[in-house]
Amino acid sequence: MSNWQIDIIESWCKGCGICVNFCPTKVLELNPMGIAAAQRPEDCTGCELCARLCPDLAITVMKLEHTA
Ligand code: SF4
Ligand code: SF4
Repeated sequence: MSNWQIDIIESWCKGCGICVNFCPTKVLELNPMGIAAAQRPEDCTGCELCARLCPDLAITVMKLEHTA
């Protein structure tokens, strides 16, 4: 189970691919519509690089709280 939730506001994404190219663990891909999508969220380390680099502030990364 992923510890991180990646929220992408699709209407704000212009499909530049920066987040896809810079994610260290290749979590993100452009979908057939050319919009960023979290294809492998289980590999997310929560580094927030994608959120910081997105020119349109379309990505938010949040830690998921697990209840034991
Ligand atoms: S927070 Fe880091 S690891 Fe997770 S999707 Fe963004 S760039 Fe990739
Ligand atoms: S960096 Fe932002 S605008 Fe560019 S593809 Fe990723 S989410 Fe979309």
